[in-house]
Amino acid sequence: MKCSSRRLRHVRRGATRTTSLNKGVRSVFSERYFSVLRSAFLALSSNASFRHFSEQSAAGRQVSQRFVAGMQPVEAISACQTLNREGMAVTLDSLGESVLEERAARASADVYHQLLDAIADRRLDANVSVKLTQIGMDIETAMAERIAGEILQHATAVDSFVRIDMEGSAYTEATLAMTERLHARPGMKGRVGTVLQAYLYRTADDARRLVEKGIRIRLCKGAYKEPPERAFPEKRDVDENYVALMTYLATSGVFCGIATHDERIVNTMRTFVRTHSLPKHMFEFQMLYGIRRDLQRTLVREGYKVRVYLPFGTEWYPYFMRRLAERPANVLFLAKNFLKR
Ligand SMILES: Cc1cc2nc3c(=O)[nH]c(=O)nc-3n(C[C@H](O)[C@H](O)[C@H](O)COP(=O)(O)OP(=O)(O)OC[C@H]3O[C@@H](n4cnc5c(N)ncnc54)[C@H](O)[C@@H]3O)c2cc1C
Repeated sequence: MKCSSRRLRHVRRGATRTTSLNKGVRSVFSERYFSVLRSAFLALSSNASFRHFSEQSAAGRQVSQRFVAGMQPVEAISACQTLNREGMAVTLDSLGESVLEERAARASADVYHQLLDAIADRRLDANVSVKLTQIGMDIETAMAERIAGEILQHATAVDSFVRIDMEGSAYTEATLAMTERLHARPGMKGRVGTVLQAYLYRTADDARRLVEKGIRIRLCKGAYKEPPERAFPEKRDVDENYVALMTYLATSGVFCGIATHDERIVNTMRTFVRTHSLPKHMFEFQMLYGIRRDLQRTLVREGYKVRVYLPFGTEWYPYFMRRLAERPANVLFLAKNFLKR
């Protein structure tokens, strides 16, 4: 199936349509209020002082547990084993980003090497997700590529896989280009993939570009603050683009990850699988640790492959704030649970 540019242009033209309010948080907050809160949380996600204060505080660590599997690798491995027993695969994410010192980039890589050893030793059904700014991208591209190459070599040796997470749009082209170079190295085909974000206008072209090379894609909506020149401002258009990209990827012949908790989109995929007799082993649903656990389990029972993105580590703050930005109602939920203790 083609991801038609015409359809995407149509979606873009409709960008001014008013988004209808959904259930849950949208019935409480107007779309406008929601968007202000989202922007506020995304701005706070890169506030260094607030980050330092939150990461050091006991209360901060306490609330972070809602989305983070622990502070140490051993806790993440234990959570991974539990999910594996429930029939779910995992991608392990050692939290960290925007690293500005080589020593810190190397330290991040060391954790990934430990994780890959654990995957091999304990026969975990898991791979790893890495951010390029965590391994030195903001210092020097060549350094990040050297470190990524070493992680990839290790992953290949233990029959695993490296997913390069996608960050803000300033990194999109560099991330795609590095993934392509790593994938083209001898013996690395199918061992490294990246992520595309449905909110970016460029994503249909990027999807075709990666599919042509056989590079695995995780499709998500996108979690960063982007300007309207680069990304659909309206959620409705992001969702429409997501579905168009999802059906293109699902029939592309290259294994893909459908990363969303959006039940309407999950249902569209279920229907698409049925009506197109799509083999269930050609894709997997991917969801974040701690979000829609009910849906994760239902999909496993229905025979779908499900992979949980499992983040851990002391540098949980930016990741956590992006989760609040996606659903500001989480703040009320967290506050209620915190006060109950
Ligand atoms: C496995 C995985 C990997 C990802 N990797 C990346 C990446 O590399 N780069 C990137 O930019 N983004 C990444 N994301 C985040 C993604 O871009 C979205 O920001 C996030 O998934 C929310 O979008 P949604 O598709 O779930 O749909 P939404 O429309 O935002 O949400 C649909 C429903 O899902 C539930 N939900 C969604 N988010 C939350 C939340 N935080 N807390 C509680 N419930 C929630 C709610 O019920 C909501 O109504 C990833 C997401 C997943 C699942």
